[in-house]
Amino acid sequence: MIRVTIYNEFIHEQSDEIVKKVYPDGIHTLLRQELEDDEITVRTFTLDTVEEITDEVLEKTDVIIWWGHVRHMQVPDEVAGRVKEAVLKGMGAIFLHSAHHSKPFKGLMGTSCNLTWREHGDRELVWVCNPAHPIAAGIDRYIDLAHEEAYGEPFGVPEPDELVFIGHFEHGEVFRSGCCYYRERGRVFYFQPGHETYESLKHPDVIRVIKNAIHWAYPTARVSELTCPHVEKPID
Ligand code: ZN
Repeated sequence: MIRVTIYNEFIHEQSDEIVKKVYPDGIHTLLRQELEDDEITVRTFTLDTVEEITDEVLEKTDVIIWWGHVRHMQVPDEVAGRVKEAVLKGMGAIFLHSAHHSKPFKGLMGTSCNLTWREHGDRELVWVCNPAHPIAAGIDRYIDLAHEEAYGEPFGVPEPDELVFIGHFEHGEVFRSGCCYYRERGRVFYFQPGHETYESLKHPDVIRVIKNAIHWAYPTARVSELTCPHVEKPID
């Protein structure tokens, strides 16, 4: 089984009537319901329990999924540091939508991760620009989202190692919506859809992409600690 850990800050769903209607049990619960299958098992954490994301939890996590927005700064640096280190050791990580500003994502990117945003209910076409990539498997030319928050370039991230999707919003913006990164032994995928007042995270193609990304990010070269050892000559 692939062991997935989902962190969702779970603030909007309890404080905002519109969000409550879209994700009544929280984004983490919806994602767990959509993602669990014969191969994927999910456990969830929220801001209330974020400190329970310990090294032990991360060692038993193959891929972590992160959704946050208004409470990034309340995630303790120690937790963000643990997540980053777990990725460097080989754990996979998927950052959704406004997690572009989360502490672990920024730590893994080393840049501002700033972008432009406009909440106007635009239709978005999420175009596949790398159809051979495993994360795009089963997706046609684009994913058609009735409404999304418009994210725009420039996106202050390092050049992606692989770009899988480019989003286009009906009032003009384009955005690098699906970005893959290799960070030491771990794989990181950033995926833009998932604003809390819209239905994107219920779209079957969005769920398919997240599932594909779970399989892509599954650890392949994991180690239990990061070391910098002195070694003998490999060849005499
Ligand atoms: Zn948003």
